[in-house]
Amino acid sequence: MLREVLEHIQRRDRFVLTSHARPDGDAIGSALACCEVLRQLGKSADVVLHDPVPRIYQPLPFADRVVRADCVNGHYEAAIILECDSIQRTRLEGLENQFLISIDHHLSGRPFAHVNWIDPKAAATAELVYRLAREAGVAVSPEIATCLYTALMTDTGSFMFRGTNEQTFALARELVLAGADPAHCAQNIYFAHSTAKMRLLGAALSNLHREGPLAWIWVTREQMERSQAKEEDCEGIVNYALSIQDVEIAAFFREMPDGRYRVSLRSKGKLNVAEIAELFGGGGHECASGCSMDGPLSIAVALMLEKIRPASSAD
Ligand code: 5GP
Repeated sequence: MLREVLEHIQRRDRFVLTSHARPDGDAIGSALACCEVLRQLGKSADVVLHDPVPRIYQPLPFADRVVRADCVNGHYEAAIILECDSIQRTRLEGLENQFLISIDHHLSGRPFAHVNWIDPKAAATAELVYRLAREAGVAVSPEIATCLYTALMTDTGSFMFRGTNEQTFALARELVLAGADPAHCAQNIYFAHSTAKMRLLGAALSNLHREGPLAWIWVTREQMERSQAKEEDCEGIVNYALSIQDVEIAAFFREMPDGRYRVSLRSKGKLNVAEIAELFGGGGHECASGCSMDGPLSIAVALMLEKIRPASSAD
């Protein structure tokens, strides 16, 4: 597949790159790095995202290249969609008319594009972008390495999620050799929270519930507003519920402006939470997945627990 993707790239000149809405570290890091790889190949390439670059990713090299938009305009010859399992999740209009190349590593990845390179064995989409750079003969600069290392670090939960293996560390080594600085990358992500996020965390933890191996927390719209938190401040909050001893699965429910709930699911590895999220139209990885559910909160929680309980007791 790698060769096929590269052949399609070589045949064209003007690319638009994108990823899913509410982009995470792998979405941003992979898109920025891939854009630079294409530019090194002499192509024209733009990164267009539906949502702004979250604050913690703004120090990444090339982050100022990201164009925020609702729609893809311009005379592109192909769109490369990274780390995303459908056109809909990009929340960009206009992609339907493009020649689409999908590069993804999700277990729940679907072949929606004209060319689909989906490798669930890869620790992050960043790994695939790295392979693409190597295959294309592009030198991995310290800037590209920094984007890819940050993507790898965040998508593996700082090299702690299941699936992290010797190949992950081999890639991390390559990226450090190419100029990524692990302490600097970690500093920007893990020691750069907003005060609002910490307030939101306090609100979420005050709603902590526990039932055997399950823990769940939530925040209402009102709590979000009182904390002056933005959507991006919700990232990672679910991990605090998962960090409790003997908790195997954690869920974080966040009320959205339309009254629906975004749900983040995390597992320590015994239960595949991608399968649970898929039951509600979402997806993700074995240990980290997400979906959206209708409110009210009590019903959303009840429906979610109904699916998680049997799965967790079967273990
Ligand atoms: P988060 O909880 O951080 O929003 O998402 C965790 C993982 O699940 C990410 O890899 C993300 O791409 C995936 N994910 C979250 N929400 C959805 C969704 O609605 N659909 C799909 N297919 N994947 C999702």
